[in-house]
Amino acid sequence: MVCACAVGLALAGCGGGEPTTDGVAPVDAGGAASKEANERVGAAPVARNLLLISIDTLRTDALGAYGGTRKATPNLDLFAGQAVVFESAWTHTPKTAPAHMSMFTSLPPRVHGVGNLNTLGAQRLSASIHTLPEILEDAGFRTAGFTGGGNAKGSLGFDRGFQTFDDMGESLDHKLVKVEPWLKQAEASGQPWFCFLHTYQVHDPYLPPGDYIERFVKPGYDGKILSSRAAIRSAIDSGDDLAPDLKGNEKITWNYWFRVDESSEQDMAHLHDLYTAGVAHMDALLGAFLKRLIAAGVADDTIIVITSDHGEEFGEHGQVRHDQLYVELAHVPMLVMFPGRAHAGMRIEAPIRHIDLLPSLLELLAVEDSGELRLGRSWVDWIEAGASTETEIRSVLGEHRSGRDRPLDIFTLREGPLTLYDQRGEIALYDRRQDPGEVVPQKRPVVTERLESLLRSQQAQLDVLSTSVGSGTAIEMSDEMRRELEALGYLSVDEDALRGAGASDEDGR
Ligand SMILES: [Zn+2]
Repeated sequence: MVCACAVGLALAGCGGGEPTTDGVAPVDAGGAASKEANERVGAAPVARNLLLISIDTLRTDALGAYGGTRKATPNLDLFAGQAVVFESAWTHTPKTAPAHMSMFTSLPPRVHGVGNLNTLGAQRLSASIHTLPEILEDAGFRTAGFTGGGNAKGSLGFDRGFQTFDDMGESLDHKLVKVEPWLKQAEASGQPWFCFLHTYQVHDPYLPPGDYIERFVKPGYDGKILSSRAAIRSAIDSGDDLAPDLKGNEKITWNYWFRVDESSEQDMAHLHDLYTAGVAHMDALLGAFLKRLIAAGVADDTIIVITSDHGEEFGEHGQVRHDQLYVELAHVPMLVMFPGRAHAGMRIEAPIRHIDLLPSLLELLAVEDSGELRLGRSWVDWIEAGASTETEIRSVLGEHRSGRDRPLDIFTLREGPLTLYDQRGEIALYDRRQDPGEVVPQKRPVVTERLESLLRSQQAQLDVLSTSVGSGTAIEMSDEMRRELEALGYLSVDEDALRGAGASDEDGR
């Protein structure tokens, strides 16, 4: 189905934003070139290169292209108007390492086995599983990965297949200073290339620049949350240090979270405002980058994918950050710009999963996989048809451990609008047709029983498969890794203190 807000209208309506001067080049979107792009539907230019961008912790509804009303993402909305928008894309887990590894392997976390650092059973990827960058490198691509570190570290297996790999924890603007010269060199080389860009730019603690706070944070807040690094430092310096045993960024992070009252609607709304301001800042940085790429002609023969590993919660289900699997956490953006902006404005309604990304991208790049186990399926046929070409809806299996030392204890099975939610054995059924936020459990025992049975049988099948792909290697935390995780602000926090403060007891990423 082609969206009513196809390219020509995207600038005026679909984006819903106020494009900044940093915006994605409005080069073609409204004029003759967009008409040309629409006419190219069904005959996309050959995809030669791939740019995969993951904005860690980006909620789908933060984007105007997905119905967001805050006008925080004019550039991403403009991009969406020139891309194919998957309206129903889902992660398998709300954590950085396992979610990204599902994109890279086409295997759900239960099979690839990679978990966040410092969690029970965390392991690096088995050498027997080949990742997207490895496959593309073998096919002759020039490859580079630029990640924000933390749980997208090379030590988990994310560096495999990348000839250039940078997992320094740094802001998006600093990272882009490294990405752009690499892209320039790759373009000049004549080789096909793959670039992976991951950023924690919108991840907590939400400390956006002041001008974005002015634009997106409602005035009159009188709670205790401090919204700038300087304010937190000032509080600490004046003796009001709520995390005296911590240091560096970790001290900042927990002085931030210890001031949050999760029972306060005002605090939840304020946090969401601050997050939205950070999203708008990210949108401006990324928009300027995309504008330069498009102006340089990079998009003419490149697939550009923008997605996220999971969303974020602001009290919708009684928590903050990302430690559950309800819709605000599991639904992810998935924008795919085809070479020459072919298929621009198309919106695909049928559900897809992170595990479907690898087979789809390989098909688009005309690269053969190595023949090993993949559980995702390509959606490339859907692009020609403008909708799913399958009779069965793709179900999405989710899983999560709600504490770093706990076994897996949250499981979900999504089938179309239905979600079976199993939290430590407590089963609930949600139906987003009547209940978009998944807050009112449905009393439908027959459906519930069917989905629960399906969940158990899929889990059992995956457990068998996980033994066939080989297990990974346990992660030993080196002093260097520990120092870096501490610098990123999410290690060695006293869990009881966190529970007392009402914050998450997971590591946050
Ligand atoms: Zn993440």
